[in-house]
Amino acid sequence: MATNLLDFDAQQMTDWFAEQGEKPFRARQVLRWIHKSGESDFSAMTDLAASLRDKLQRDACITAPTVVREELSSDGTRKWLLNVGTGNAIETVFIPEAERGTLCISTQAGCALDCSFCSTGKQGFNRNLSVSEIIGQLWWANRQMGKDADGLWPVSNVVLMGMGEPLLNFNNTVSALRLMLDDHAYGLSRRRVTLSTSGIVPAMDRLRDECPVALAVSLHAPNNALRDVLVPINKKYPLDLLMAACQRYLEKAPRDFITFEYVMLRGVNDSVQLAYELIELVRDVPCKLNLIPFNPFPQTHYQRSDKDTIQRFRDVLMQADIVTTTRKTRGDDIDAACGQLAGQVQDKTKRTHRLMGARP
Ligand code: SAH
Ligand code: SF4
Repeated sequence: MATNLLDFDAQQMTDWFAEQGEKPFRARQVLRWIHKSGESDFSAMTDLAASLRDKLQRDACITAPTVVREELSSDGTRKWLLNVGTGNAIETVFIPEAERGTLCISTQAGCALDCSFCSTGKQGFNRNLSVSEIIGQLWWANRQMGKDADGLWPVSNVVLMGMGEPLLNFNNTVSALRLMLDDHAYGLSRRRVTLSTSGIVPAMDRLRDECPVALAVSLHAPNNALRDVLVPINKKYPLDLLMAACQRYLEKAPRDFITFEYVMLRGVNDSVQLAYELIELVRDVPCKLNLIPFNPFPQTHYQRSDKDTIQRFRDVLMQADIVTTTRKTRGDDIDAACGQLAGQVQDKTKRTHRLMGARP
């Protein structure tokens, strides 16, 4: 079977070329063709010897997941549904803003962690995405939208906030991150790539050591009793361990703060008293708080906190000198907002059955 070169970061590409008896600079040339030029046709790689082009055409390929559907929101947000085989689809979202273009990408088909307010979690877990499926989302989105007049790709920032828990697909996620950062691929600065995690403590340490990028941590509650309910992985990695891991991460992080995400659920985690508890919790961690108005989806019993409640919660944090922003909801007319990404995942955990009270 042909080897998919979209599965390789720079080192892996060099290793593969070495196995073929080719020099490292050939690997670099091909890497640039694929990621910098968005090329998928070996015959167009004109600075390679004809014999190498023929060989690549025979033994290799450049294959991203295929797009099943594209949707465009009235606010310019785009969503792509990508087929990743065996009945699974994942979603990628592009959010254009004046100064940047942010791509929100997925790292797993489904998610095993089952946070109670998350549509992806409700589908259960199917499998980890491969490197080509993760980086392929960026590769595809850039190609689809095309370079601007200055020759720049439209995606300037990447957030790993789509479907799945990136730190539970560690190796493939890190290879994809390395490509995002590599000057011969996308050349994004570490500050422009943000990984969001529900708090997988040991993997946060590994990320810090192997490939630190900007970090967002999904907090959602200031105490263990409530967080156990909202983010069940909290039972394994409770808040004291999580806060300590954040401190350690900051030693090597490209930014000097952690972003804490806090979804605003009406009557659940949005009281002034909890805002005070939150201030205590994060007291020793340099951070910014990002409040995310809850985005509803069909099978949920949660509701979004109202505007005034969110504002009041924010005011309390701001008075304690914690920089707090409220995330603008983008693309909700095409179900592209945070936590609404559903794709269609074949649930290997049969969670949907359990939820419906049926036997798996
Ligand atoms: N698994 C990772 C990254 C993907 S989720 C994580 O949990 O951090 C990205 C963000 O969307 C997380 O902060 C998550 O808590 C939030 N989110 C999930 N469901 C949501 C919903 N229905 N409304 C608003 N935000 C949601
Ligand atoms: Fe998984 Fe993140 Fe959704 Fe939780 S919020 S179920 S970790 S994707």
